[in-house]
Order: sequence, then C-alpha cells, then structure tokens
Amino acid sequence: TKTLRLILGDQLNSNHSWYKTIDDSVTYVMMEIRTETDYASHHIQKVVGFFAAMQSFYNELISKKHNVIYISINDEDNLQSFDKNIKQLISKYNFLNFEYQLPDEFRVDEHLKNLCKSLSITNSFVDSEHFFTSRNELGSFFEGKKTFLLESFYRALRKKNSVLMEGDKPLTGQWNYDGDNRKKLPKDHQPITPLVFNNNVSKIVQEIKKTNIKTIGTIDENNFVWPINRQQSLQLVEFFVTECLHLFGSYQDAMAPNEWSLYHSRISFSMNVKMISPQEVIERAIEEWKIRPTEIEFNQLEGFVRQIIGWREYMRGIYWLKMPEYATMNFLNNQEKLPDWFWTGKTKMNCMKDAINQSLNYAYAHHIQRLMITGNFALLAGIDPDEIDAWYLGIYIDAIEWVEITNTRGMSQFADGGIVGTKPYVSSASYIDKMSHYCGTCFYKKALKTGEKSCPFNSLYWNFYDRNEAKLAKNPRIGMMYNVWRKMKPDDKTALLQQADYYLKHINEL
Ligand code: FAD
Ligand code: SF4
Repeated sequence: TKTLRLILGDQLNSNHSWYKTIDDSVTYVMMEIRTETDYASHHIQKVVGFFAAMQSFYNELISKKHNVIYISINDEDNLQSFDKNIKQLISKYNFLNFEYQLPDEFRVDEHLKNLCKSLSITNSFVDSEHFFTSRNELGSFFEGKKTFLLESFYRALRKKNSVLMEGDKPLTGQWNYDGDNRKKLPKDHQPITPLVFNNNVSKIVQEIKKTNIKTIGTIDENNFVWPINRQQSLQLVEFFVTECLHLFGSYQDAMAPNEWSLYHSRISFSMNVKMISPQEVIERAIEEWKIRPTEIEFNQLEGFVRQIIGWREYMRGIYWLKMPEYATMNFLNNQEKLPDWFWTGKTKMNCMKDAINQSLNYAYAHHIQRLMITGNFALLAGIDPDEIDAWYLGIYIDAIEWVEITNTRGMSQFADGGIVGTKPYVSSASYIDKMSHYCGTCFYKKALKTGEKSCPFNSLYWNFYDRNEAKLAKNPRIGMMYNVWRKMKPDDKTALLQQADYYLKHINEL
C-alpha cells in the first residue's frame, strides 16, 4: 500500500510510534495553510513559532530518511486547507490509504472526519501519544456527577500514573500545598533572567509578509525568543528545573512590572505542539528534586506537577466533554465590546498596561496575569466572552483552543456557569496590590473607590456583584460578598455604582 499520513502543526512529536520504522511506502505531509493562520488574528510570534517548529520537524524527519512533503504558505499549488491539499495529493500520487493522529481541536477533528467520509481510499486515525489521559477519560471519571472537581481528578491521575506516590498514599502524606505557595515577591528580590533563544526567523517573517495574513504584536526576527525544536525545548526544561523550580510554587501568583516570566517554565508552547511530552517534563522535575531535596522543597515541585498532570489534563477532558456547546456558553450574559487598548496596551492602568504590553511583545503572559489582570478586568467590565476568547486565542503563543477556551470561557470568565471554577475569579485592587508591585506607580490610586483617580477595579468589582446578584448570590462560596454589599451604606453603594457606570461608559479612555 501507499499511505499518506498527515502531521498537524501541533503534532511535532518525534517519539510517536509512527516514526519508529522508516517505511518507504509511507509519505508524510505537513502544511502551512490559511485555514489555520486565519481562524483568529494570531500574534506574529505564534504564526512564526508554529511555522519554524514545523520546518525544524520536517528537517528532522528528512534527516532520518522519512518521506515528507512540506507545503509552504506561498507554494503555488497550496490549496490552503487540509481537505483540499490532501485530496490533491491523493489524486496526484495515487495514495491508497490515508492516516492521521487524533487532533486536539474540535474544529479540526470535525474537518478531518468529514474529509475521511468523502475519501474513496481507506483511512484511519491513531492516538497522538502525548497526554496522560484519553479524550473521554474525564467524562467517564465524573459520570453522573454534577461537579467536576480538579482536585479529585488530579489525585486519581497521580495514583493511576504513580506520580509522587507511596503505594496509594501521596508521598509526604499531603496532596495539596496551595496554602504554602503564592507569595508576593519581596521588595529587594531580583528574579532570575529568563533563558531566551536567538533564533533567526527572518525567512519565515518574509514569507508571511508576502501574504495578507492579519497578525498582531511585534517580533524581533533575528532573535526569536521561543524554542523551535525539541533540543531547545529540552534546554528550556533544563533551565526551568535547575534555575526556577525551587521558587516556582512560592512565586507562582506573584507579579512585578517588566518581569514577564519570573519563575514560570514557559514550556506551554513546546508541550502544546508536542516537541516535548508532559511525562518527560514531570519526570525531569522529580529527578531534579531528588538530586537537590533540600534546595527544592516538596511544595514547589507539587505546585508544578499539579499544573501539568492536573490542570492541563483536566482542561483537555472538559473540552472534549463539553464541546461544541462550550464555545457558545455565556452564563452571565455579558455583551460588552473589548476596549480598544487590549490591542495596543495604551491604558493608564499599570497592571493592565504591563500585562498587555508584554503579551504584545512576547506572545506570553503568565497564568496570574491572564487570570487576575486581563481576565479579571474583562469579567468585571462584562465583556462578551466571544471577544475575550478571540483575544486570548490570538495573542498567546501557546493558545490552542482546547486549552485556551476552557481557561478563558471557563476558569477566567465563568461563562460556563461553574463547570471549571466554583466561583468567578474577580478581585478589586487589594488582591492585585497584595500579589504585585504594580499599584505603587499607577496613575490610579488603589485605596480610592470613587473619584477621578480611583482604581477602576474597585468600583467595577461591586458593580459586577450588584448586576449579577440573581445569578451569583445563591453560590455558597460567594454569599459572603453579598452580605458585605447589603450592609454597605446606601450612599456609598450609589457612589460606587455611579463610578463604575462612568468608567464603563468611558472604557476606552481608561
Ligand atoms: P507554568 O506556570 O510554568 O506552568 C507549567 C505548565 O502547566 C504550563 O506550561 C501548562 O502546560 C500547565 N498549566 C498551568 N496552568 C494551566 C491551566 N490553567 N490550564 C492548562 N494547563 C496549565 N494555557 C495554554 O497552554 N494555552 C492557552 O491558550 C491558555 N490560555 C489561558 C487563558 C487564560 C484566561 C488563563 C487564565 C490561562 C490560560 N492558560 C493557557 C493556562 C496557563 O496560563 C498557561 O498554560 C501558562 O501561563 C503557560 O505558561 P508556562 O508554560 O510558563 O506555565
Ligand atoms: Fe491596577 Fe488599580 Fe493597582 Fe493601578 S491601582 S495597578 S489599575 S489595581
């Protein structure tokens, strides 16, 4: 038989069993296509990151003597979609069989299913051999349950995979160290300088410039900072475990001006395109902890392992359980437009300016910036989740729908009504000030609730609770806030709501 195998841009897994043997009857195809570059306005670094990583993977396969066809974005016979290119190749080379790896995105999954229905040759799919769990494992785990607690799924996965376990007990006897983590950076603390790469990607940038692909953000094409192959990805993992892991948990939720990475690993892009596997990352972190058990406290390690074997697998499971409905959920019925400055960073709010500018400059923000700065503001302001999703899906280098939408619509915007999170993640300035060094130099005053220089987060916070009372007051985790709100003096309430109203009406001038 002559088989054609499709490799998607986020399936750059050189350890996949497909590549164990060199088989002359198999041809692989990789393609840069407009359906993928155009489903959102992506950050230029995201498009470049994907193309660069795909090209490296192609070179690797070729050097190992696999047959590979690479369709570049400006190739004349590129028909710019998976189905059209595949049909063209089948008729040109008379392939007799077509195979693909299960995609991570619902959209692509449907597309490939439909393609296969319309093919007259045999076809099949295999697993992508990347995740700890199968697509439907979370669904079976929570079958018949009304809530989907991350903690119980995480513990089950730790047990199932014998990760940091002693028999069926957690090593150290304790599952959760969240209480020990999440500190503010001390004032005189100088965080580690992030490891960046200096990849020259100018050829790819030139090719993208020839098209009319709409991108956002900036790029230094001679010093592209992101890893573009497995070797660089592993280097980043090494840097993380040797230089950052010992402070990962402690400063996981910390924020500081101009510190774009702190002790975060920045391996989400490498993992999401499968240049490295979650399993090897966890194993390497555990190994390092075993080498330096006094320097790396257990809570730092557990905090990291929880993100990968916990949150990452959990979000994927929720995605496959709840799509396609998930993509249209809007529990709080939010309808507002995203302020223009989300695309430019031009706002007087120091925390927002910092988070947005670094996103435009690096295609990256760490979790707490995404959740408690940009996400928090968008939720308080009642922005339409469709607009917010489009922003997150475009701007981050690691943004692929399965992990973007569950985090954005679910965790951050509560648009799923509490599937992923048990309550909305909102805060006023006091939390932001507690976790960051943003407020001191801000135009707005964190302690003021009303008036010209009052921090917008303060009045918007109460406005949020007030306008969503019917939907939120019954939630046992939120009820307390309503007691505070109800006890507030009527004049103070009115002043807060008027201030919020003013800010919402002038949102583009914030
Ligand atoms: P680290 O802080 O070093 O964490 C290590 C790894 O744990 C990450 O690489 C990631 O794979 C995993 N992880 C941590 N938190 C989560 C989480 N909540 N969900 C899934 N995996 C997690 N992550 C994406 O990969 N793609 C996205 O498009 C994305 N969009 C997000 C949007 C919002 C609004 C929020 C609040 C979070 C989003 N996240 C997304 C989750 C998380 O913020 C990123 O995975 C993380 O910031 C990536 O940086 P890092 O590799 O330095 O992570
Ligand atoms: Fe952000 Fe308000 Fe603090 Fe300014 S005062 S940095 S807007 S939380």
